[in-house]
Amino acid sequence: MTQPSVGLDFARIGIPGLRLEALFEGVPLALAVFDAELRLVSANARYGELTGVAAKPSTKMSIYDAFPNALADLTDQIDTALRGPAAITTVPVPFQHRSGRRLIETTFATLSEEGGRGLLFAGNDVSEREDLRETLSRNVAQLESIFDVIPDSVRVFDTEGRTVRSNTQALQDHPSGQPSTLRELWQLDRPRTVDGTSLFMHEHPTARALRGERVRGETLAVRRGADDMPLIIEVNSNPLYDEQGKIRGAVTVERDVTVKTQLAKALEEEARRTAELYERVSTEAERLERMVQERTQELLALQEARSRERRLAAVGQLAAGVMHDVNNALNPIMAAAYLLEANAENPTAVRDYAVRIAKAAETGAATAARVGRFIRQEPLQAEREEPVDLSLVCDEVVAMTRPLWAERARGGVIHFERELAEGAVARGIAGELREALLNLVQNALDAMAGGGTLGLRTTVTESEVRLEVRDSGIGMSAEVRERAFEPFFTTKGRAGTGLGLAEVYGIVKRHRGHAEIESTPGIGTTIRLIFPRASQQQPPEVTEAPRQRVARKVLLVEDHPDSREFMQALLESDGHKVDTATCVQEGRALLEQADPPYEVLVSDIGLPDGSGWDLISFARERWPAMRAGAVTGWEPRAGAAAVGDFILRKPVRTSELLAQVAAEG
Ligand code: ADP
Ligand code: MG
Repeated sequence: MTQPSVGLDFARIGIPGLRLEALFEGVPLALAVFDAELRLVSANARYGELTGVAAKPSTKMSIYDAFPNALADLTDQIDTALRGPAAITTVPVPFQHRSGRRLIETTFATLSEEGGRGLLFAGNDVSEREDLRETLSRNVAQLESIFDVIPDSVRVFDTEGRTVRSNTQALQDHPSGQPSTLRELWQLDRPRTVDGTSLFMHEHPTARALRGERVRGETLAVRRGADDMPLIIEVNSNPLYDEQGKIRGAVTVERDVTVKTQLAKALEEEARRTAELYERVSTEAERLERMVQERTQELLALQEARSRERRLAAVGQLAAGVMHDVNNALNPIMAAAYLLEANAENPTAVRDYAVRIAKAAETGAATAARVGRFIRQEPLQAEREEPVDLSLVCDEVVAMTRPLWAERARGGVIHFERELAEGAVARGIAGELREALLNLVQNALDAMAGGGTLGLRTTVTESEVRLEVRDSGIGMSAEVRERAFEPFFTTKGRAGTGLGLAEVYGIVKRHRGHAEIESTPGIGTTIRLIFPRASQQQPPEVTEAPRQRVARKVLLVEDHPDSREFMQALLESDGHKVDTATCVQEGRALLEQADPPYEVLVSDIGLPDGSGWDLISFARERWPAMRAGAVTGWEPRAGAAAVGDFILRKPVRTSELLAQVAAEG
């Protein structure tokens, strides 16, 4: 380090042993001393460093050259300084230093009180301090703008409750006048808690913060602005501490949450209403469901009442129909019987009336048989069943009826579509199934006056066989379709009997099947009969024994004299030997006495002293070879076939009676 040569009289300072050189170098200032001619006589190292001037007293550099890198003219300052110590000024002057621009506080002072003895230059580098100040003020400005843009109201209070700062939002809170203290703020706001209790001033969040409490998220209602509408604000207040931890004031931040609160309230209300609505809707749904249930019950009840009515009506219709047909049959019989009596002597007349009686009786019997086939719905008896090929039945019925189709369809052309499957085999009675199909074909033809298409189809599934009769005729209305199976229901007036479908229904039921109608008015009708399919391992078809003329020894038990005599005459006319009895007891006696035993027993069921079944089972047990059977007007009871070899239904058909009696045991 260069020791500056000092030409000053430091002894004047009067501190013995004080090394002024050390002071000169030690202070953090650039120092330079100029003599009375304003020539540089001495300078410290900091001066050299600042100005780049090497302080060499020999060069006698002028003061005006001693600051070559000052970026301002120092002349004025030097001149002012020369006027005396009272005029000392300190001026910040920028210097172009090799490290960059520096700001130097420059001071020129006269070295003697009288002046004119020289000047001292002191340069204090304040660049860093200035930078700091600048940064600080920039930061403060930033903070202030932040303070102002905050959408909440921010107020700073001192310990006395005076407002020391308010941001822009806070200034807008009270358009009628700014509160300068907490008391004024409290008076203007008239704050209340949300449940409506007014607040004392010492309860104000700011007052509490000034006592050291941190107040967080307190909701208050205040009155501000012209309309005096209460606002909801959320208040936070913090005490402000100094470095010693002493409370210096408080900062209070208020946020207007009126809209938010209203929204929340509206939302809550909405949720409540939705819940209420949901509740109402579900009660309504329940009510509707109950109503539907009630209505359904009512409807069901109504339906039942209707169907009961229907059934009653059907029974009435059945009775009326039977009566009508029976009367129709009886009238000619009675007339003929009368005439017969009157003309008993005339053999031609007798024969003629006999024929008429037989014909009328036949008609009556046929009706009864048809009604019977409808009523009889108990399953078939196993022995009488046989496998029946429905496709074969179809072909038979077609062959039988085809010549009459055109006539039945009143002159139209009938196209026939045949679609018959192999193996459409059901178990049952071929004759009955044939009759059922015949009825369906007749109905189809009736429906196609003027021609159309008749289709017969059989199909086979694993468990069922189906028989379909399809026509392109007039079809049925819903009402007709519903009633079509009722006995004596007809839409054909005098031309119809109303027994066809009733009979079909009875037959199908007896065959453990069911029937379906599909029909569209004007388009046509399909009637489908569905039967369980006969399993393949059925015993082979039992061929009916042909009727033979063999004389049999017969016991006939019947209490009704007409019937008994009629049957006896019939059997005897066929060459049999016939004994008769009128009750169980008599029948039994005859059976036991007979030698050789009777070959055939024919017994009525309803006898005065008991049931014909008892007689039949007795006989069969005693004489197993004997054929024993019943004649009855009643429906055979279930299992009856196991007791008898045959059952004949009244009115007895001549041919059936003769066939059964002649049959081989
Ligand atoms: P009927 O033929 O004597 O009238 P049914 O018992 O056979 O008696 O039929 C009852 C009623 O059902 C018929 O009068 C008719 O109205 C209706 N019907 C039956 N089959 C058909 C069909 N194929 N097309 C249209 N209507 C039908
Ligand atoms: Mg018919």
